[in-house]
Amino acid sequence: MADARHLDPDRRLSARLLVDPDAIARNYARLAARAPGAETSAVVKADAYGLGAPAVARRLVREGCRTFFVATADEGAELRGALGDGEAEIWVLNGYAPSLRAQFVEQRLGAVLNSTPELEAFIAAPAGPCALHVDTGMNRLGVPLAEARALGDARGALSDIDLRLVMSHLASAEDAASPLNDRQREFFVDIAARFPGVRTSLANTGGVLLGEAFHFDLTRPGIGLFGATAGPAAPESLEPVAILEAPILQLREVGEGETIGYGATYVADRPRITATIAAGYADGLPRALSGRGYARIDGAKAPLLGRVSMDLAVIDVTDCAAAARNGASARFFGGDLSALAGLAGTLPYELLTGIGPRVARSYGGLA
Ligand SMILES: *Cc1c(COP(=O)(O)O)cnc(C)c1O
Repeated sequence: MADARHLDPDRRLSARLLVDPDAIARNYARLAARAPGAETSAVVKADAYGLGAPAVARRLVREGCRTFFVATADEGAELRGALGDGEAEIWVLNGYAPSLRAQFVEQRLGAVLNSTPELEAFIAAPAGPCALHVDTGMNRLGVPLAEARALGDARGALSDIDLRLVMSHLASAEDAASPLNDRQREFFVDIAARFPGVRTSLANTGGVLLGEAFHFDLTRPGIGLFGATAGPAAPESLEPVAILEAPILQLREVGEGETIGYGATYVADRPRITATIAAGYADGLPRALSGRGYARIDGAKAPLLGRVSMDLAVIDVTDCAAAARNGASARFFGGDLSALAGLAGTLPYELLTGIGPRVARSYGGLA
């Protein structure tokens, strides 16, 4: 039985993402305070993990951040456009190709060189500052250790390029007990010693939290700026920065034995008041949360009932019906980001970068 009478007909009908740039700035300051001997950069690839790189980076510049990492040259160009001609350094993690030379030069992008052929192409026609990414055990990107050692020992070959950074990336930084951390660190120290005078960088968010031995000259946190890590729980010292807010489109009363949604996977065990909300998997609410995730209505948990569909989902508001009638929206992520990622079998990274393009980003406080 429909029961929409009490909802304001003039309310918002589409989901939006509330992003708090000041909270991101506070997380940046906290991560910087953890590594006082190092410069703290900001990794803002994939549109700042879905939150909007221009707004995020502009706020971080005001916080004192001078160095940014993106994945691709196009992301770098967009960020350069947003930051203007200031001093910010923008590094492109996914590598360099001669076909991108004009873009690197015009947008003043730093090239992270991930292999010996990339390095050789760069030496043949340098395109500004460059970084050497050494693979210390991740086996994803980077010059293999033996090649990096040889390059370091024959540094003369690099004298024509503006090599500003030697970097590597940790595979298991969120797991402080992993022996891989120290092994990668030792390899990195050995490589760094072969490039005297060149700045060094190893730590992502997890690496920042591992402690000073991992900080080197420049840290590279990404997810920590957005209040999470790759681990199962959000670190207590960081705060949530984004909420997916889905307005309630309809309230219904569902009788005992009735079903909800595609596949009729949920059968009401007793009469329930349900809210149909304007968020589905196209908005970034994972279908994997069907029957296991929850929203918050005025702070109270409202479980997802049945399957999440493309544009809609249904939540149980039996215990918070008054707030739902009063116009409260369903809120996802926020302080629940890590827990919901766990329930969906994924990570906060994927939840944030999965927020759909039709969800308007709204910058301000989260209250
Ligand atoms: C994505 C990325 C980071 C940031 O990692 P977080 O876990 O989000 O802090 C740092 N360095 C490299 C090379 C990356 O690809």
